[in-house]
Amino acid sequence: MSNLILLGPPGAGKGTQAKILEERFGLKQLSTGDMLRAAIAAGTETGLKAKAVMDRGDLVSDDIVIGIVADRLDKPDVAKGAIFDGFPRTTAQAEALDKMLPSKGKKIDSVIEMRVDDEALVKRITGRYTCAKCGQGYHEEFAKPKTPGVCDVCGGTEFTRRADDNEKTVRDRLAVYNKQTAPLVAYYQGKGKLHVVDGMADIAAVTQAVEAVVKGLKG
Ligand code: ADP
Ligand code: ADP
Ligand code: ZN
Repeated sequence: MSNLILLGPPGAGKGTQAKILEERFGLKQLSTGDMLRAAIAAGTETGLKAKAVMDRGDLVSDDIVIGIVADRLDKPDVAKGAIFDGFPRTTAQAEALDKMLPSKGKKIDSVIEMRVDDEALVKRITGRYTCAKCGQGYHEEFAKPKTPGVCDVCGGTEFTRRADDNEKTVRDRLAVYNKQTAPLVAYYQGKGKLHVVDGMADIAAVTQAVEAVVKGLKG
């Protein structure tokens, strides 16, 4: 069992790599962004609270997000390990995670920081879209489906874009990342858990680098 954190700014490739790791290692992706978007779609109380905050690129409150993750970790599908994608995003969230994991018989094995330049991030985010049926991620330039307009994974032909994936909000999200989330690099370095990967490389090369870390954990 290994539990990983993918740490990196919006557009770094966390979701892309998490999905690949899920398939190759039987780990489960836990994306707090996906969970919050599901809550919005379902019209729950949490969703109602989160929507305006997410649309402007700010962070949802620590209490809400920590509660969602604590509940999610009690489901059996994370027994082989979880890939935390987009969580923790603040020092308070990291500390809460460190507190809750031992009581669930778990720990963080490794934190992989994916480094990407700001201008590349803006390009990635503004070109990002997702299969409406299965959630597979694509990019207009860097990750096109094999047949135009048809999802490689499920054959779906409808795609969506996130409300917050526009240039203005991305720049605000990057500022939020640098202020509130970047301090976690030092936090996990201090615990001897940090591995840095060059997120500027192409998707396959990033996968190789990330896999090397995961295999190192198992070996
Ligand atoms: P995150 O989950 O960190 O926000 P995503 O995995 O959704 O990032 O990737 C953002 C966008 O960039 C997606 O459209 C994805 O297809 C694309 N992408 C991901 N990794 C790379 C890469 N290494 N090179 C180029 N484009 C990438
Ligand atoms: P990205 O893949 O672009 O990094 P996410 O899907 O992880 O974006 O997050 C989208 C939005 O959801 C964030 O801008 C924030 O408003 C909210 N969010 C997601 N995860 C968290 C978290 N751990 N703490 C607070 N807010 C979060
Ligand atoms: Zn699909």
